[in-house]
Amino acid sequence: MKLTVLGCWAPYPRAGGACSGYLVQAGSRNILLECGNGVMSNLQKYIDFRSLDAVVISHLHPDHYMDLFCLRHAVSGAMRTDGNLRPLSLYLPGEPEDTFGQISRFTDAFDIRPVESLPRVWQNGMEVFQTIIGDVRISFIQADHPLKTYSMVIACEGRLFYSADTKWSAHLVTAAEGVDLALCEASVAEQDRDYVSAGHLTAKQAGELAREAGVGQLVITHFWPEYTLNIIIKEAEEGFGRAVTAAAEGLQIQVEPFALLHAPSPKKV
Ligand SMILES: [Zn+2]
Ligand SMILES: [Zn+2]
Repeated sequence: MKLTVLGCWAPYPRAGGACSGYLVQAGSRNILLECGNGVMSNLQKYIDFRSLDAVVISHLHPDHYMDLFCLRHAVSGAMRTDGNLRPLSLYLPGEPEDTFGQISRFTDAFDIRPVESLPRVWQNGMEVFQTIIGDVRISFIQADHPLKTYSMVIACEGRLFYSADTKWSAHLVTAAEGVDLALCEASVAEQDRDYVSAGHLTAKQAGELAREAGVGQLVITHFWPEYTLNIIIKEAEEGFGRAVTAAAEGLQIQVEPFALLHAPSPKKV
């Protein structure tokens, strides 16, 4: 499974940057995870939008969905000229009602799939909604943010945990347990913890979440553009106890089973 960062800023991008967006390529499927401002432009550096299999949105804050409005026109236009092209599967929370209502009218481009309509299972005492896209299984777990928000575990070859926007929550540690790569929001520095305590992680908390969950590697993202990123990275590393990778547009990481990466090399006999 390959993760490509298309955008990592919130709630507005730095010059030339983009808000949340990640291309997940696994088992021959192309999945766009988040579609914030600037993501449509960056997506096309890697693939043709016609080859997307699904779009997944964690929650309906503009920095996570705004470029759906561009993508909608691209897909509906392409469908008019190519009769074989089907509406693109769009997974998103079914609320808040007004934003969901607006997006769900774009049936000329999207096959709308509210997360809450997906099959529901209980895992470790958590309510989990699941879908399968080709060989890729996506599990949605409720995060703790002012709007309905889902963290996710994306599994194919390797497992990826994506925090989305959330404040600290013990059940997210459970959800992320043992994954190969955690992609965690690290919205603020420790000095600003109180300012965002209702809905975001500090960089240090992102590190602590990943350490408690015993993840293979940690990529931090969702950065306030005004910070010096070195401070955010240092605080995340304090929490994690190991080196972390900061997301940046164009960063590509292979998500492979952690055990394989760290298996002792066979002894010569
Ligand atoms: Zn956000
Ligand atoms: Zn948000």
